[in-house]
Amino acid sequence: MLEIKNLHARVAETGVEIIRGLNLTVQDGEVAAIMGPNGSGKSTLSYVLAGREDYEVTEGEILYNGQSILEMDPAERAASGIFLAFQYPMEIPGVATMEFLKVAMNAQRKARGEDPLSIPDLMKRVKHAAGELSMDLGMLKRPLNVGFSGGEKKRAEILQMKLLEPKLCVLDETDSGLDIDALKIVADGVNQLRSPDRSIVVITHYQRLLDYIVPDSVHVLYKGQVIKSGDKSLAYELEENGYAGIIEEAA
Ligand code: ADP
Ligand code: MG
Repeated sequence: MLEIKNLHARVAETGVEIIRGLNLTVQDGEVAAIMGPNGSGKSTLSYVLAGREDYEVTEGEILYNGQSILEMDPAERAASGIFLAFQYPMEIPGVATMEFLKVAMNAQRKARGEDPLSIPDLMKRVKHAAGELSMDLGMLKRPLNVGFSGGEKKRAEILQMKLLEPKLCVLDETDSGLDIDALKIVADGVNQLRSPDRSIVVITHYQRLLDYIVPDSVHVLYKGQVIKSGDKSLAYELEENGYAGIIEEAA
């Protein structure tokens, strides 16, 4: 599904290199966790995957289903099934959440050669998915993310993910700002999406989320590189000993 080879990426404006020779492979159906201390480049990696224009890839390759995505703009990447749930979801004043979902879902359908959904069908799907995430349906009328609590924003991201049915999901610190009940609901939502033809990259700072979304692989990111990979036991090792040992080992 995803193969990242010797990726180097820098901030376009300043030329500061953040991703420095990163290698990562994620198989079809795999749930891969990316962990790492603050500032190691986790969010930057998610932005580079999504095609955010503030970053430049200077070397290396990102293959998605065997094809390079480096020349694709963010909309093309989204249409091809790549989805990013943001660490800090953006507030969009003036655009009701339901309206946003309608436009996004129909754009995905168009990209797949499908007809737009009828309004009743759309409402039914959105309400069903929102209900599964225990979201207050009143939120659907409010402008997207405006005044939402941290936890509500994260749920709104997962709602979008459920409705857009992406092939490659990248979740950036979806656990931050969630209390334990909300964490379980969000993790359930992600687990429902696990399927042999969908891959999920879970970026997290803490091992806690991985008790609920059990990963197939765990990768430690540090200074823009994957310095260690393992199975879920690596997450427990990190929880116990912190990153220092692994960083020293890699050095
Ligand atoms: P993480 O998500 O792992 O905490 P980030 O990817 O957010 O890390 O950031 C990695 C490093 O890159 C940090 O030191 C951050 O300050 C720096 N960085 C990210 N984006 C920019 C930018 N646009 N301009 C300058 N520095 C940036
Ligand atoms: Mg981050």
